[in-house]
Amino acid sequence: MNDSLPIPILGFAAYSGTGKTTLLEALLPKLTKAGLRIGMLKHAHHNFDVDKEGKDSYRLRKAGASQMLISSRNRFALMTETPDSESEFEYLLGRFDTSKLDIILVEGCKNIAFPKIELHREIVGKPWLYPNDGNIIAIASDAQATDTDLPQMNINDLESISQFVVNYAASHKPAKQSNSTDTASCDTLSPAFLSVEQGVAKILSLVGTVEETEECAVEAAYGRVLSDNVVSPVNVPQYTNSAMDGYAIRSDDLQRETYKVVAEVMAGHAYDSPLQLGEAVKIMTGAPTPEHGDTVVMREQATTTGDTVTFNGVNIKPGQNVRQAGEDLAIGSSVFNKGQRLSSAEMGMIASLGFDECSVFRQLKVAVFSTGDEVQAPGTPQKVNSIYDSNRFTIIGLLEKLGCDILDFGILEDNEEMMIQALQDASEQADVVLTSGGVSVGDADYIKLALEKLGQIDFWRINMRPGRPLAFGQINGKPFFGLPGNPVAVMVSFINFVEPALRQMQGEEGWRPLKVNAVACENLRSRQGRTEFTRGIYELDTNGQLTVRTTGKQGSGILRSMSEANCLIEISPAVDTVKSGESVTIIPLQGRI
Ligand code: AMP
Ligand code: MG
Repeated sequence: MNDSLPIPILGFAAYSGTGKTTLLEALLPKLTKAGLRIGMLKHAHHNFDVDKEGKDSYRLRKAGASQMLISSRNRFALMTETPDSESEFEYLLGRFDTSKLDIILVEGCKNIAFPKIELHREIVGKPWLYPNDGNIIAIASDAQATDTDLPQMNINDLESISQFVVNYAASHKPAKQSNSTDTASCDTLSPAFLSVEQGVAKILSLVGTVEETEECAVEAAYGRVLSDNVVSPVNVPQYTNSAMDGYAIRSDDLQRETYKVVAEVMAGHAYDSPLQLGEAVKIMTGAPTPEHGDTVVMREQATTTGDTVTFNGVNIKPGQNVRQAGEDLAIGSSVFNKGQRLSSAEMGMIASLGFDECSVFRQLKVAVFSTGDEVQAPGTPQKVNSIYDSNRFTIIGLLEKLGCDILDFGILEDNEEMMIQALQDASEQADVVLTSGGVSVGDADYIKLALEKLGQIDFWRINMRPGRPLAFGQINGKPFFGLPGNPVAVMVSFINFVEPALRQMQGEEGWRPLKVNAVACENLRSRQGRTEFTRGIYELDTNGQLTVRTTGKQGSGILRSMSEANCLIEISPAVDTVKSGESVTIIPLQGRI
């Protein structure tokens, strides 16, 4: 059935109490983020009504309209009375405008035959549906289903369920083109349309991490990634000490009028006798506090006369102004985990533990090429019909930022044989190979022919702008990225696809691109179904509100827009226009480009 439907349909089958709606509510944002436009069909109990008593539409229905269509700027609803019997499933599906949808999800309708995911929770105490329902194609549960080859997911792992639906939607598109074989594999993804998320997920699932590690001097470790956990061999600070220049006294001796100053202690020295009642020690910041001298009064609050000191009217809290041994880090505590990228604070902390070296993953070697007949090297006299190569230099900067070892292969000569040779050489020397230009679908550049001959390269069309074409695959078992040619597209593609992959290859763990919300200062245009990366400038306005405006013209060849920008404005596939005053997601670029 449903052969007439031009888009896939997928149901969620479960006994009541399983939390279908709650799950779907949490799932839908992930699906729309992945670029899917969703239609929902839900079966409800027979007294259900969307209308509200007293509303105009309600009054007109009750007055006799058997179909009531109500419309406004934002939505319309058609309410149809079906007093005799519920409408047929097929008929209901036919009500959707499938030209504006990618998939229809169905909640309920347990007894109708169409593909479904079974949702099952042990606590509900109901039997499994899959043994008696051949329409179940996967299971999401908190228990293990036995005697089945169906794919199983954890019902609480929304990410996996979402990925399953996205893959299902991609692989069950009814065949329009005669050459489509309608199976979900890399081959049919060539050249496929992918959302940004799908592209990233696919790439990350296919790249590994360098294995070799080395010892690195702490002063040379900026940007490197730890290959081992760092555990503190000492207490930091090593001993309890004063946080102020002042006087150490006993916390059981705060009521006294005057104290006798029995010693003066500088940092690097100590007063070795236990402090007695009535005594104070003049102490400098960082100097160890004497035994019992667990409270420090700052010098500015003290009045001295000869060898006595008073703190008249000062409210002294027991234990104040003292840094406890191990307060920053206790001996044996975990300081950094493997996979941590090191920057200034981490370098200082590692040194503070007494280490002068740390174990890091070896540097990643990345080969970079430019391609294109029209592309010429800077520093040579300009030729007619040529442009100077900028992409290679942009990419070198981006790689530098990530601490890669860069192998610059220059501009590839426009000759298929030589390109194949050069790509193979690069893949032998480097861990990753990057090129720019010539990967658009329909591009007749030599690089595309060479890549096609090398095999194992997919030509994707990412639903994003700029940066739609992207080639990804392997040469000699090494990841290969064929970035687009347009200079802005190169950077946007690198930021979205190459950077996460390189970070993973470098061994970095837990990295996520920083995204924050800002208020748009102007209307922003996009198109539903694709992610738009507009170059933006964000700042705090005079009210302390984070706002963002565009850099102006957004042509993907205008590299100046990247130079002026301090963020990308990310407009999700579900949105076509953002109005001035609305909130948008921005990706700050500081530290990344
Ligand atoms: P392509 O993807 O090869 O069609 O290239 C798209 C656009 O990017 C064309 O206008 C190319 O001239 C330009 N382009 C390609 N490679 C480079 C490069 N290395 N530096 C600057 N622009 C380039
Ligand atoms: Mg070209």
